[in-house]
Amino acid sequence: MKLVLRGHHLLCLKGFQGYGYSEEFTHNMTEINKLRKSENTTVTLTNTPDDICKACPKLNDNMCQDRKHNSIIVGMDNEVLKKFDTSKEYNAPELFDKIDSIFNSRESVREICFECMWHEECLFYQKL
Ligand code: SF4
Repeated sequence: MKLVLRGHHLLCLKGFQGYGYSEEFTHNMTEINKLRKSENTTVTLTNTPDDICKACPKLNDNMCQDRKHNSIIVGMDNEVLKKFDTSKEYNAPELFDKIDSIFNSRESVREICFECMWHEECLFYQKL
C-alpha cells in the first residue's frame, strides 16, 4: 500500500487515539493508522491535501479551511518536511520510528503543534 501524507500528519498519526472532525474522518484516520504500521506500506510526503485530508470536512477548495488557516497548516508541514527527503518513498514503520527520534521534546514540536486544538487528546504530545 502506498500512502501520501502531509508532514505534520506524521505526528498526528503517532498521537491518534480515535478522535477527529467527523465519523468519516475518524474512520479513515483509523484505517491509515493501521496501514502505516505495516512493513508493506510506503509513504511519500507532501505539504498539500493528503490521504487524511480527503475524508476531512474542513477540506475546502483543496485548502485546509481557508487561505489564512491553510498557510499555517503548510508552515507546520514544512517544519516536519525539512527533516526529510520529499522525493523519497519511505518504508512506513521506519519513517515513523524516525519521528520519535527527531521530535522528542515539546521544544522540538513548538513550531508544529503550537496552535493545535488536540493537545489534551494527543498521545504523542502528552508523552513529550
Ligand atoms: S483538511 Fe486540514 S484539518 Fe483536515 S485533515 Fe487536512 S490538514 Fe487536517
